[in-house]
Amino acid sequence: LPGPALVRPQAVDIAALLPAPGAEQDKYRRGVLGVRAGSDPYRGAAVLCVGGALRTGVGMVRFGGGRGVADQVIGRWPEAVADLRDPQSSTDLSPGRVAAVVIGPGRGTHPANADELRAVLDSEVPVLVDADGLTLLTGGGGGPLSALLRERAPQTLLTPHAGELSRLLDVDRVDVEARRLEHAARAADRFGCTVLLKGSTTVIAHPGAPAVANPTGTPLLATAGTGDVLSGAVGALMASGLPAREAATCGAYLHGRAASLARGGAPISASDLLDALPLAVAEVA
Ligand code: AMP
Ligand code: MG
Repeated sequence: LPGPALVRPQAVDIAALLPAPGAEQDKYRRGVLGVRAGSDPYRGAAVLCVGGALRTGVGMVRFGGGRGVADQVIGRWPEAVADLRDPQSSTDLSPGRVAAVVIGPGRGTHPANADELRAVLDSEVPVLVDADGLTLLTGGGGGPLSALLRERAPQTLLTPHAGELSRLLDVDRVDVEARRLEHAARAADRFGCTVLLKGSTTVIAHPGAPAVANPTGTPLLATAGTGDVLSGAVGALMASGLPAREAATCGAYLHGRAASLARGGAPISASDLLDALPLAVAEVA
């Protein structure tokens, strides 16, 4: 029998998916996330993305980005691991170093970033692509890069907002907004990976599986930097071993709850979300 076309997970469903930190676990088994984010002009995105992962209970973040960005990330989050002599080396992609990678927030769209994205997509680790990473998939020479998505065997998650998805699919943003679920599903089928479409109702599409509509969240989230926090939070869950669809489902749920918990319904900024994410995890766990 066909299952439901659309799933609306509740707190109990999220609790059942979230990995419980086991007594026998160490930081490596809890999950090591590589973050390739930020650039000299856009450093805050890296700080927010790393914070989103740390506050969602990742075992370790290995940060790889430019020297100036890495300084800023370590200044805010001393628990993040970055080799400041050679920050790129912190997220080398050899087996066992990182369990998943987030790439894109604030990273820039320089040709060197396209090479970096290609190397990440060529690796054997689960990958979340956001923001500038999504632009690189479609932008100059983007055809071959987006073709890599279908070919890769490990889990892959794209986290576009409506504008980013409209560029990925080459359709009008207005059309994406009018039929969000349909366009998310079309992208998941075309690229052969999981797609989390952000917005007033966040939806998650995965080839051959029912779509997920996230029940949490508030319009207060429409403020700069909240998407960078989401990519870190979902990346942490992918690093813990959750498949992309389940990590996206849990991450979006927790992110939305954090927005409501952060200031009791008063306006929030992206940094407030970081303080509230652990409360959201504790609430459902
Ligand atoms: P980004 O567009 O990457 O900055 O991400 C924005 C974040 O805010 C995503 O998690 C969106 O789902 C969320 N968001 C944006 N606008 C709204 C809205 N009107 N209602 C609820 N959530 C929103
Ligand atoms: Mg964004």
